[in-house]
Amino acid sequence: MTKKNISNGILLFYILGILTCYAQDFGYDGSEGPTHWGDKYEKCVGKHQSPIDIDAKNVRFKDFPPLIYDNFDKHLEEVSVTNNGHTVMLSIDKGEIPTISGGPLNSTYGFSQLHFHWGPNDTLGSENKINHHSFPLELHIVMYNMAYSSFKQALNFKDGLTVLSFLYSVSHENNTRYNQFEQALDAVHNLLASKKFRDFVSLGDFVAIDRSAYFTYEGSLTTPPCSEVVTWIEFKNTIPVSKEQIRNFRLLYNKGGHLTHNYRPVQALHDRIIYYNRGISNHTSIMSTSWAIFAVFFGDRIISFFV
Ligand SMILES: [Zn+2]
Repeated sequence: MTKKNISNGILLFYILGILTCYAQDFGYDGSEGPTHWGDKYEKCVGKHQSPIDIDAKNVRFKDFPPLIYDNFDKHLEEVSVTNNGHTVMLSIDKGEIPTISGGPLNSTYGFSQLHFHWGPNDTLGSENKINHHSFPLELHIVMYNMAYSSFKQALNFKDGLTVLSFLYSVSHENNTRYNQFEQALDAVHNLLASKKFRDFVSLGDFVAIDRSAYFTYEGSLTTPPCSEVVTWIEFKNTIPVSKEQIRNFRLLYNKGGHLTHNYRPVQALHDRIIYYNRGISNHTSIMSTSWAIFAVFFGDRIISFFV
């Protein structure tokens, strides 16, 4: 796979993007809240919006080719971690870009940024849900289709972006793979604070170790402008973190005080199909995580019951 360095142009775009993002007049409460986003951003009332509530009884099983991760295990040469008032975001300033291909993707997608969504307490906070269940934290790794010249260009195409999405579960122990990121989080509590870090942990340290099982569907950005250009890959296995680690996200400030929640409510599925890739270790992993499946076959459609 060809390795590509980030150009100064892309870096400039990141900076402009961060500033533009803050300049966007949206929030999560009152007149700036999600029910009003459609007043200014017409795509936010579209029919293929995200997040969604993934109903495991209504998924279509499909064995996709393996996802191919490139540069996910390499330390990141230089990153910026920024509190943009909506979330904490990590972008890469220098070094090789992690890429992904395979699975449901028809192209190679390059890393753009990663960020998080959370709630006021541990019973909610994730954007996507599974079987009406909310999780306390959700990670979005935003990648753009490298067939297009830039992230901005990719936003104009239906297959422009993919978001690798991971849900978290509460553990009694700190997840030590997040130590370096937590130091970064502590350094950007203030609104619009941004810090650079060198030799940062790899993307592989952020994500679930077992990524074999995932849901995938066509959706949108979950913030304005809500562009319907995202192939969502929602991994089934959660990432364990402690209550304290989750609480640290709520210490960030936005313009109104602490940023205690930044999740958009689930949107209607409409005519979309959610696919479920069970992964190689499906049978053992499902049983070991108490997600027993009883499948009933109806033609090419499998209705499953998760318990
Ligand atoms: Zn997000």
